[in-house]
Amino acid sequence: MAAPKRFLVKNISEETILSGEEFNHAKNVLRLFEGSEVTLFDGSGAEYSAVITKIGKSEMVLHTVRKGVSERDPKANLYLLVGALKGDKTELVVQKATELGVQKIGVFSSKYCSAYMNDNKFSRLNRVAAEASKQCLRATVPELFYFDSFEKAVLSAEGYEDKLFACEFITESEKEISEVKSSVALIVGSEGGFTKEEFEFAKGQGFKGVTLGKRILRAETAAIAFLSVAAYFAGELK
Ligand code: SAH
Repeated sequence: MAAPKRFLVKNISEETILSGEEFNHAKNVLRLFEGSEVTLFDGSGAEYSAVITKIGKSEMVLHTVRKGVSERDPKANLYLLVGALKGDKTELVVQKATELGVQKIGVFSSKYCSAYMNDNKFSRLNRVAAEASKQCLRATVPELFYFDSFEKAVLSAEGYEDKLFACEFITESEKEISEVKSSVALIVGSEGGFTKEEFEFAKGQGFKGVTLGKRILRAETAAIAFLSVAAYFAGELK
């Protein structure tokens, strides 16, 4: 039997109301009916089994029957910092990073970054993270941040045990990705890459430069590949 459909709702209680887009999806797309069992999650890590008890015109009522803890949530503490990318590339990175088990994503502006951020784009990124969490069966949605300067982004990684910086202009890694423990912050640049000063600033804050090999990867490829390898060594993807 297929797993119960998942819905992201704030404020889950014994009787939970589903409205808006999630209601529309449940009623008109999935054609769920009174009696259908679903899974509710609020993004904080817990999830609930619930049964639809009443379907109205613009909302439905669900009765929560069981609370559980998702076993699919990431255990490692992975933080991805990525330069704002052009077009919908940041969305792509947010979607893939969510599936790979990131806990936090910081999007930043830097010297050679030509993409911009606004409220609209930022809300879209949050929606992408929520959708991807639903799809990959996570019960937590990664937290998203935007930093209007590279320095703020770097400083936001304070406290992580390992801090790695994907640097396109070094030929030898200062630390092997395979040595990371379970608390890792990663920095990847935007299409324009980094300045030497930005690299030096990050090093001053404890980041170690890492090469991803001899080829220059596109920013989105670099972000996804870097996170995948780090996630593996941090204990995820196993
Ligand atoms: N415009 C730059 C390339 C930027 S690639 C140039 O022409 O050199 C975008 C980002 O992906 C980089 O800032 C870096 O963080 C990462 N990246 C791409 N290829 C890499 C590599 N071989 N090693 C380390 N990081 C890499």
